Amino acid sequence: MHRTGPWLRAAEGAMLLGPDGIPAPTVFAEMSALAAATGAINLGQGFPDQDGPVEVLDAAVEAIRRGVNQYPPGRGAPELREAIAWHQAHWYGLSVDPDREVLVTAGATEALAATLLAFVEPGDEVITFEPFYDAYGALIRLAGGTHVTVPLTAPDFLPDEDTLRAAFSDRTRIVLVNTPHNPTGRVLPREVLATVLELAERHDAFVVTDEVYEHLTFGTMHVPVATLPGAADRTITISSAGKTFSTTGWKIGWLTAAPALVEAVVSVKQYLTFVNGAPFQPAVATGLRLPDEVFHGIARELSEKHDLLAAGLRSAGFDVMRPDGGYFVLADTAPLGYDDARAFCLRLPELAGVVGVPVSAFVRPERAAGYRSLVRFAFCKRRDVLSAAAARLAALSPAR
Ligand SMILES: *Cc1c(COP(=O)(O)O)cnc(C)c1O
Repeated sequence: MHRTGPWLRAAEGAMLLGPDGIPAPTVFAEMSALAAATGAINLGQGFPDQDGPVEVLDAAVEAIRRGVNQYPPGRGAPELREAIAWHQAHWYGLSVDPDREVLVTAGATEALAATLLAFVEPGDEVITFEPFYDAYGALIRLAGGTHVTVPLTAPDFLPDEDTLRAAFSDRTRIVLVNTPHNPTGRVLPREVLATVLELAERHDAFVVTDEVYEHLTFGTMHVPVATLPGAADRTITISSAGKTFSTTGWKIGWLTAAPALVEAVVSVKQYLTFVNGAPFQPAVATGLRLPDEVFHGIARELSEKHDLLAAGLRSAGFDVMRPDGGYFVLADTAPLGYDDARAFCLRLPELAGVVGVPVSAFVRPERAAGYRSLVRFAFCKRRDVLSAAAARLAALSPAR
């Protein structure tokens, strides 16, 4: 009776359908279970193991005590919407009306879900880069859309311009751009974003952005698509507090867009979660208004954590690709004599007591060959954890 339904499209879109047509657990669940069973250090899933700014945490506690415990307004607490508008002006020079152009959501995930469900009709095409965050594939298919991808390939993980142009058609409804990019760590340069915008204009498509790592960059400036000339009318900018403030469990996200677009997304969002996280909303407002130095400090600390883990990976013999931003580093297992990252990840707990995830989990089977030997490791962990992982990895011996 439950053998079919939209859930099957979601599983298929997230690349979880096995050859038998039965949805498999995600590679994150599989690898986390492996870490738990073997006591290996889990660098598979991308969540921090340390708290973020104490001002943000204190503000949430204080809000609960102050009685901010009932449904907040549908579009989000006014103080958070104002802080989001302030943040967009302060960091990017964008002018956003907090009453008409901001929507607070249950994480970036709900912002993406509500946006895709609001605008994608069956048969419409949605373009993303590939590798892609697994939720994109699932949500596009749930909305009835067709998922078209443009590969980002080693060594630079930038899209080929002709391939990008060829991906657009008159069926393109949305191009979904994730920068800084998970899992490659690439911050997309302004020229690539300008090409995306030009193509979106030509084919009358929306640009939806996922900027959850906007503050976690290591020297390369993040450019929101919305700052490009002509982008304002067709761009929906999505971000979240989870990654910036190490509060992934709070699920406070948001989007900013032109009033008519926000209205359309509200029509869907109000029947998904309606609202969420009342006391966390003023806490995130406090976070967004913290001094610039706090944001720079968060990025600097993460960059040092990257260096710690990357050094361990290099001395183990991996080819390591330096990310421009985000939580993750990609390592190539080929120089160690392993050509199948999935098989390697399954053995890594036993070989070195560490868990990572194969990049093939972010790629469709037909494209997997290009990413076959790549592993993604998370470095959003405590220094002592990363040092221990680096030491364990450095002791890894090449395959025979
Ligand atoms: C973590 C992550 C998200 C999810 O953000 P939430 O605010 O937790 O919903 C979305 N996109 C990317 C690329 C991510 O890495």
